[in-house]
Amino acid sequence: MPFPIKTCVICHEEFDLRPDKPGFANRCPSCSEPESTEPALASTRPVGYAERRAELEVNAARRRAIRDLLYRKDS
Ligand SMILES: [Zn+2]
Repeated sequence: MPFPIKTCVICHEEFDLRPDKPGFANRCPSCSEPESTEPALASTRPVGYAERRAELEVNAARRRAIRDLLYRKDS
């Protein structure tokens, strides 16, 4: 018995809708893969260690500023 043929909503390729196909039923196997495997997305947004580190420091500084504000109000 053949699998039903579906058309992918992303790339409009036809594919067999297998029962064990991972991901969405209306997407072909290659479009069902996680975004990290897509070269277009991966190359446009590289998130490096330095960037994450800088973000953490900004958050920490913001928390310190808020805490200072609260303490000043209390005293
Ligand atoms: Zn597709």
